[in-house]
Amino acid sequence: MSVSVVAPHSKRPAEEDKVFAANRKAQEAAKKVGADQVINSTIGALLEDDGSLSIMQTAMETFKNLPDAEIAAYAPIAGLPEFLEAAKTAVFRDYRPKGHIRGVATPGGTGGIRHAVWNYMEPGETLLTSDWFWAPYRTIAEEHGRKMTTFTLFDEKKAFNLASFKEKVQELADHQERVLVVLNTPAHNPTGYSLTDEEWQEVLTFLSNVVDHQSKKVILYVDIAYIDFAGDMKTSRGFMKQFENLPQNLLVLIGYSMSKAFTFYGLRSGALLCVSSSEEVADEFESTAAFSNRAVWSNGTRGAQRVLAKVYSDPALLEKVEAERAGFSKLMFDRARAFVDEAADVGLNIFPYRAGFFITIPCENPAKVSEELTKDHLFLLPMAKGLRFAACAVSVEKCRQSARLIKKAIDKVNG
Ligand code: PLP
Repeated sequence: MSVSVVAPHSKRPAEEDKVFAANRKAQEAAKKVGADQVINSTIGALLEDDGSLSIMQTAMETFKNLPDAEIAAYAPIAGLPEFLEAAKTAVFRDYRPKGHIRGVATPGGTGGIRHAVWNYMEPGETLLTSDWFWAPYRTIAEEHGRKMTTFTLFDEKKAFNLASFKEKVQELADHQERVLVVLNTPAHNPTGYSLTDEEWQEVLTFLSNVVDHQSKKVILYVDIAYIDFAGDMKTSRGFMKQFENLPQNLLVLIGYSMSKAFTFYGLRSGALLCVSSSEEVADEFESTAAFSNRAVWSNGTRGAQRVLAKVYSDPALLEKVEAERAGFSKLMFDRARAFVDEAADVGLNIFPYRAGFFITIPCENPAKVSEELTKDHLFLLPMAKGLRFAACAVSVEKCRQSARLIKKAIDKVNG
């Protein structure tokens, strides 16, 4: 008989994280056959063509040049005030909505999701996100005694499935006083989809109706982890102007992360912002989230916060950061383009890719297809209804090659 000491709510199967497991297999293969023979498209980080991590030198130098005490000292619980101002600028740029905007520092985007799940849901309640989703959403919900359900992201025309979205929001609103909806856009993980301005308008009109006519509270969590790889300022942020003048029971939360935007993955820094037409709701958000900070991680990484504050108070530094990031974006875009073009050439069915690190291939038997691909030394992430290809991690040539190999494997497995 096995021994277990943990409390019942924390009893969970011991499973390796799927991404890290796939990456481990790719690395083992690289040791056997050589890295140039292996396509490791598992990890959600921007890599150089040789597989090493792309590092934003401007951000790294700024960090390393900080006085020791700026790195070693605690940050204030809610975050350095200059950081929080910089985060608001970084998030909205020229598209800052009117309204009450508040923020707290979090350890990356993950921390923001945690605060939303804990503070805007009751035990046992269910949050809503799309059927293609970043797996930790579910993990975070489960960790906190909440559940997760999904709407169908795409309709038969591969357009945003508004009908499914509305149906699922309504289903939850019928049973819960509050509905937390998580939308990861622009540059969705794993499909690379971004909602259009028109789709945003429909989403917000519908949610406004739910809160106005059914006395419900809707918390719309916009996960913008990939926003700085989602095209120009208008394309990536234009929709945020629509967050103005929403009903006071429709609270917008925005999860910002420095992980991808500054290649600060391990420095664990980001911010959770709110936009509300009600000062009271915004103040409540701020004090609630700050309380949670104190209770869960106390405070964030001061050095990373200082870097963001410096970047947004020094136009020359910001220009340098943006020039470097433009190089990363081009690298990313060229790779994704190579995959998308090759997919079209060989007739590989993929979801509409607009921007970001990943491309998704819907298919039957994803686990088997993924297994088949390992014979060609191609490693990616099998998901429930398809495959996630991390174009961020693979050279242009390997992207092209991958589209062909994936098509071949799907045909072989699924006939
Ligand atoms: N949201 C999505 C969709 C992500 O893919 C990630 C990272 O992979 C995050 C949020 C948060 O990452 P971090 O906590 O490193 O900011």
